[in-house]
Amino acid sequence: MRCIFCKCSSSSSTSKEHIIPESFGNTQHTLPPGVVCDKCNNYIARKVEKPLLDSPYFREQRFKMSVPSKRNKIPKISGLHLQSRTLLELIKHQNENIIDIVPAEGEDESQLVKFLEENKKGTLIIPISPPPNDYIISRFVAKIGLEVLASRFITAGGLDELIDKPELDDLRSYVRHGNPRKTWPYSYRSIYAPDSLFTEKDDIFEVLHEYDILVTKDDEYYIVVAIFGIEYALNLGGREIDGYYDWLSNHNYQSPLYFGKNSRS
Ligand SMILES: [Zn+2]
Repeated sequence: MRCIFCKCSSSSSTSKEHIIPESFGNTQHTLPPGVVCDKCNNYIARKVEKPLLDSPYFREQRFKMSVPSKRNKIPKISGLHLQSRTLLELIKHQNENIIDIVPAEGEDESQLVKFLEENKKGTLIIPISPPPNDYIISRFVAKIGLEVLASRFITAGGLDELIDKPELDDLRSYVRHGNPRKTWPYSYRSIYAPDSLFTEKDDIFEVLHEYDILVTKDDEYYIVVAIFGIEYALNLGGREIDGYYDWLSNHNYQSPLYFGKNSRS
């Protein structure tokens, strides 16, 4: 068996690769050990996923949606008590509808205590962070793309065919080595509010992430992935995104994730 990123023998590898990180609530979509070798799996976790997962933007999204990490912790976020100028930490525990608000580490709480003794109302400011930079996002989306392709090729029985496709070498090198450091263009747009509730038959659920591969009439392959209401799309075969914009304009700007499907369109 060979690894889809480095093409080296991976038969002794033992770790399962999560197509979407567990910290985004994914437990279902994984690749069996060896599809991504242990070395690449480890590199991707540290260099591709971690910078994105640790970014204030995604921590805030995970806090808002109460999505725990694989160690079962919902990320803490920071806030500021305006009147006393005290830095705070907001902590959520799983399955509890309570947010603990405590002074940040090393913060002097005397002003806050004094304020709360004298006042019934105060202002808590919670910053909203911008998304991480394009390079971080696009490598993350590219990684998901190659792994989703792999999951399709496994079921079709042809993982070697995918590994030996020279058309995918630029993408592999971009994810696995970050080369070149120039951002691989991708599309980014909001398709629904992060906490929208969807209904399907009798079930009501929040959608954290979903993905698909779009193949355009020019035979371009796009990974399309939605995470917390933002749709990201990236061309797996090259650094051009125009074909995606053309597809959107020819399809009334619907998301390929829902196009031609009954629910949620
Ligand atoms: Zn590898």
